[in-house]
Amino acid sequence: MVLGDLGNQISSALAAMSNTTIINEETVNNLLKEVGNALSKADVSMNLIIQMRKNIKDKIKLDQMAAGLNKKKIIREVVFEELIKLLDPGVPAWKPVKGKPNVVMFVGLQGAGKTTSVTKLAFFYKSKGWNTAMVCADTFRAGAFDQLRHNATKAGIPYYGSEEVKDPVMVAKKGVEIFKKEGAEIIIVDTSGRHKQDNELFEEMKQIETSIKPDNVIFVMDSSIGQAAYEQATAFKTSVKVGSIIITKMDGNSKGGGAISGVAATKSPIIFIGTGEHIPNLELFNAQTFVSKLLGYGDLSGMFNKIQEVIPEDSQSLKEIASGKFTLRSMQAQFQQILKLGPIDQFIGMIPGMNNMPQLQGNEGNLKLKAYINIMDSMSEKELDGKKPINQKRMLSLAQGSGRHPREIYELLEQYKAFEKMIGTKGPGGFSNLANMASK
Ligand code: GDP
Repeated sequence: MVLGDLGNQISSALAAMSNTTIINEETVNNLLKEVGNALSKADVSMNLIIQMRKNIKDKIKLDQMAAGLNKKKIIREVVFEELIKLLDPGVPAWKPVKGKPNVVMFVGLQGAGKTTSVTKLAFFYKSKGWNTAMVCADTFRAGAFDQLRHNATKAGIPYYGSEEVKDPVMVAKKGVEIFKKEGAEIIIVDTSGRHKQDNELFEEMKQIETSIKPDNVIFVMDSSIGQAAYEQATAFKTSVKVGSIIITKMDGNSKGGGAISGVAATKSPIIFIGTGEHIPNLELFNAQTFVSKLLGYGDLSGMFNKIQEVIPEDSQSLKEIASGKFTLRSMQAQFQQILKLGPIDQFIGMIPGMNNMPQLQGNEGNLKLKAYINIMDSMSEKELDGKKPINQKRMLSLAQGSGRHPREIYELLEQYKAFEKMIGTKGPGGFSNLANMASK
């Protein structure tokens, strides 16, 4: 099962729960069973699933919920929070510090994508104006230095390695020394991997770590590793001070469960994901955004960042989103801002409720937004401010008034619900916080 299937299965389970009229223990149990099955098929370890189900049950106390509370919404939010928790160990992600050399050591099994990710990371920071350098401390695999040299040259990044010296500790130490003297701000050391975890590899890694004293050890893990992930990540974590994770090959048919187990085993955050073989194919990782996209909610933080390029920080609609209030009027204002971005084909998938509309391409997305804006133009002030509900009859008259198909009115209101569902999420880690974050 690929990651997309995991998202679909969990979304369907949540939708099935939303469609039931009575919410009781049985509904919650059925939902948890479905969510558990989906995670299990994605290779998430059973222990983690059991723990997650327990956390959800502990948080949902149906008998203590006051009448009138929106139970379905609370349950959805709890499931969402717990999914995020699986991917977020709650420790801050490593960030290099300006004005000093930041030494980063890469570890992982052979073939995980270490050397490729070393170059990607160096290139990522180079593009942001950091002085970066790469060191090849893999003296075990023939051709490792050649590969690093090739990648570094392609990315225009200084590198160090040796064909003669066979002691990886010496090579790592020398490389770091040279680049520290040269004033490099980020020095990335690639170490060797083996096909299997062997004692020699771990001993060598420990010695390199002691010698170069890295500011961060990054564990590189192939996303398709599956059930073996937990054990493997634990083995690395107990040998060296793993501080961050990069998950590679997320562009493939990955089940993704390995990533979740890797986080649990190392208690380290995923900082980047590799999404292709090429140097720019590295994306910053954010658990909230990831889960949000997985469940088809769109990428609000990406969207806010984009919107911020064109709207002033004190815009009323951004303020409303940040405060968790979101009306059709705010949505109309957002759409108008989004249209200013020009063609939105690159960007349409970030909009909640629109990420499942593959039929919208290029200009079609812009036309759709314009149509929505026109429909909202036909609404009354009270409707725009959420003070008057829009029933079926009114939907038909809005269709007539705006000259659009009634289906589009329905789509628009569904879209609004998708937005509202995300933005209205309160509490730590909620989407109102996300909007806050983005508007800072
Ligand atoms: P290492 O042995 O851990 O250093 O692994 P390499 O960096 O040599 O990568 C092993 C293979 O995985 C190479 O063919 C890479 O091109 C490929 N690879 C690495 N990262 C990614 C990724 O994010 N996506 C895809 N599709 N391939 C990747």
